[in-house]
This record gives sequence, C-alpha cells and structure tokens, in this order.
Amino acid sequence: MDKPLDLLKRLGVETQPNGDLSVYSPIDGAPIATLQNASNGEIEDTIARAKAAFIKWRDVPAPRRGELVRLWGEELRKSKEDIAQLISLEVGKILQEGLGEVQEAIDMCDLCVGQSRQLFGRTITSERASHRIMEQWHPLGPVAIITAFNFPCAVFAWNAANALICGDSIILKPSEKSPLSGMATLQALLRAIDKFGSDAPGGLAQGIIGGVEQSKELVYSRDIALVSATGSTEMGRSVAVAVAERFGKRILELGGNNAMIVTEHANLELALRAIVFGAVGTAGQRCTSLRRLFIHHTQKDALIKKIKTAYASLNIGNPLEDQSLVGPLIDAPAYMMFKNGIQDALDEGGTLLIGGERVLEEQYPDGYYVSPAVFEMPSQTQAMKAECFTPILYIVPYEDFDQALEMHNDVPQGLSSCIISDNMREVERFISASGSDCGMANVNIGPSGAEIGGAFGGEKETGGDRETGSDAWKNYMRRTTNSINYSTDMPLAQGISFGD
Ligand code: NAD
Repeated sequence: MDKPLDLLKRLGVETQPNGDLSVYSPIDGAPIATLQNASNGEIEDTIARAKAAFIKWRDVPAPRRGELVRLWGEELRKSKEDIAQLISLEVGKILQEGLGEVQEAIDMCDLCVGQSRQLFGRTITSERASHRIMEQWHPLGPVAIITAFNFPCAVFAWNAANALICGDSIILKPSEKSPLSGMATLQALLRAIDKFGSDAPGGLAQGIIGGVEQSKELVYSRDIALVSATGSTEMGRSVAVAVAERFGKRILELGGNNAMIVTEHANLELALRAIVFGAVGTAGQRCTSLRRLFIHHTQKDALIKKIKTAYASLNIGNPLEDQSLVGPLIDAPAYMMFKNGIQDALDEGGTLLIGGERVLEEQYPDGYYVSPAVFEMPSQTQAMKAECFTPILYIVPYEDFDQALEMHNDVPQGLSSCIISDNMREVERFISASGSDCGMANVNIGPSGAEIGGAFGGEKETGGDRETGSDAWKNYMRRTTNSINYSTDMPLAQGISFGD
C-alpha cells in the first residue's frame, strides 16, 4: 500500500500539518494526518454558502441534477481502490469490506440517477366539479450530513446522492474518528462538480471538520432544513430534541441490537455463514451486526459446534492483508467497551464459549485486535439489551417460537433482524405484523449487508427514519398540495354555501 500522505494527495484530501484534530490508524495506532477543526465563523460561512447554492440548485431540472450524481459515480469508480484503502487504514475494515463500501456509494449514485427522473407526486380526484388536486415534491434546502465512524463513505453517499437529485445543497460533517475517508468521498464529488460546469453553484457540496461541537452548530442552525445524523442512540436523542425544538426535519439512523432466530427447521449451513459474517464482519462494528442469536433447543448443540469451529479458524490481523477476515477495533475506548461487555456477560451468568481476548498486542501495542466472543446466556439478560459495538455474540436457546419472538422484540432498538427457517409458517409469522418489530426483517439472510434499493433504517431507539432506496427520497423534499379549479365557478369544499 502507498504511504498515507501519497494516498491522500491522490484523493485530493488536504491535511493541515499543525491542525488540532489528529487522525490515527486503528491498524497500529500510528498517526495518519492532522486536520483543522472548523471555527464557529467558518461554519456560519459554510451554511451561508449552502443557502445561496440551494437557491440556484433548486431550479436546475432534476434529471440534470441526476447528471451530476452520474459524474460523481464515475469519479468514485476511478478512485474505488484508493478510497477503499483509506477506509481500511482509517476505520480498520478489511479491504474487501472497504471495496464493498465504495461500491455501495457507486450503486447509490446509479440508483439516484434514475430516481432523478422519478420525483413524482400523485393526482387526487376532487369532490368539486372541474377541479383537480395534485401533489408536488419540491427541494427542501441545505442538508447537514453527520456520519458515524464505521461507514464514512457509503452513509455520506446515500444521503448526498439523494439530497443532490432532490435539489438540496449539502454539508458533510464526518466522524472525528474517520474524517479522511469522508473527505475523500467529498473530493470525488467536487471533481464531478468541476466537470458538470456552471449549473452547479459554488457551495453546493461542502465539508466541515470537527466533533460534537461543530456538529451542534449545524444541528441548531435554523438555516439547515434537514439534519441527517447517523450514530449512537445517545447522539440521536440530543439531535432529535434540538431539531424538533426549531421544527426542522431530521433523519436519524441510530444504534441497533440485531438478532437472528434459528428455528428447528433451519438449514444450519446457511445459518452458520450468515452468523459468522453478521457477527464478526467489520469486527462487530456495523449498526446491523448480529449480536443476539436465538436457537431452537434441538439445534443448539450442533450449531454451537459449527460456530466454534468457524470462529477458531478466523484470521484476525492487519485489514490490508488479504488473508485477514477480522481487523482491529476503532480505538482504546472501543476495547474498554469490549472488555466491559465480556465482564457483564460473565456477571449475568453467561458461559464464554470462545474468544473474548485481546490478541496481537505485542505486534501492535497501540492497535486493539480482539478475538470475537461467543457466549451462551441463561436467558436474555440486561446486558444483552444494550448495543455493545464490538464483536460479542450472545446465544440463548428457546423452546417455542412465540417465546423466541418475544425475546427478539424485547430490546429498545429496532434496526435489523432475521430468521433462518425452511418452514413457511415460521417465516411468514416472523415478517408479519405480529413478528419482528424491526425496520428490516430478513429471511434466510443475516441482518447485515443490506442492498441500497430498499429503504434502510429502524424503529424505536434506532430513530424511526429511513434512508437510501424505495421512497426514501421524499425525506429530502417538501410536499405541496395543489388544488386547481379549471371551471368558472367557485364551489367550496364540504358543500359550504357562503353568501351564494
Ligand atoms: P457517535 O454517536 O459517537 O458519533 C456519530 C456522529 O455524531 C459523529 O460525527 C459525532 O461527531 C456526532 N455527534 C456525537 N454526539 C453528538 C451530539 N450530541 N450532537 C451532534 N452530533 C453529535 O457514533 P459512532 O461511534 O461514530 O458510531 C457508532 C454508532 O453509530 C453505533 O451506535 C452504530 O449502531 C451507529 N450507526 C448506525 C447506523 C444506522 O444506519 N442505523 C449506521 C452506522 C452506525
């Protein structure tokens, strides 16, 4: 791999040698670069430019706006390997997952190019003669995109591609833990804007560097029409209140606590593959990572045996090396969370089946590699109800399907869920109104690795909002209802006679 600074230069990411935000690689804890946190004045100027850009961009025809997103997709294709390497370096994902993340951004651009010709409203019949009612969707305003550390490229692209085709200007505030990958994705967009020409106003796409303080400047600003924030439930609780207080719009994509039910009718080979990728992918640091596993008691021993064998052969190591399947945790606080999670599970009567150790400490004293842990728990305990954003999998056996469903839904989060079963009744029940209460309920697939065509998001403390495909574009627009009279009369609705 290239030297980090060469990679950043190629991607057009400017660093500040004496900046006050240091970015470290979780691979070995080595500094990658420093950046400068934005001042309040800079943020105000950024918002003012976004406001001015919006006034121009909203009048550019939507399919033409789609052309900009098409060009962005092309730039991302050209930089795919470089951005993926940067994601591995900065977030610690294995290269395959970094490549997958950039591909997701590219796919999102493709989807939004088509969507730019499909920003449609309905026509509704009127109760009055020679009248028509229709809905239109109009651009909303500047959109602030606040991202979590674990998907610095894709989550930005989901939001930005939608916002741009919908006629909005955007401001990215990447996670302070992985700002470089977000900025590299933004640079690809800025190159696309250069190619697009003068229809794209200056200030259409901007980024600000910073942490919670800078984020809050955007959240509290009345000039930001939509705050799309991805991260912890704690962050979402604070953002939700601040945005609601000023009657702004928000999209919140928050923590998950995703589960799988493996029934007595499950194909265990299928289950195993879904479990391993779901629970150890991105070292358990995906919002959709598998954390809770409910196994029918008749399948438990056989499946646990398979899981232990699979976990024992996991290659844990430098995510840039081909053979690695599990990279490091993002930083020391994440390792503390892992250690506390292990202790809590033991305190609550859990049996550690495998893993749970720090590894490679001698080779990487400042890199936090752990062996993914699997516990068998006596029941769904208190610790299992909180999201521990590390690779800990809790197994709870169950006797009957209703009991499994009840435990499944008995957590505050509601992002992703899945069932492994060849039985039609169980499967249909799981995805029915009385089944999983999550935003995503999968069948014979794990909970993570969603496709962008479907709406993505979750219920309860996950935030209740949706991003990416389906009709999620509507969140980036405002609706107007137009009642049109093409007669020469003026009848009132509800049959009201008013001085006739
Ligand atoms: P985090 O909440 O610490 O930070 C996320 C972002 O929010 C950062 O940019 C941060 O600067 C900002 N932020 C934090 N507190 C804020 C506040 N009070 N006001 C305004 N901004 C604030 O999350 P993280 O550690 O970067 O990411 C991990 C979390 O994100 C996990 O809980 C994971 O489940 C969640 N996540 C959810 C999704 C989803 O789509 N549902 C996707 C990825 C990650």
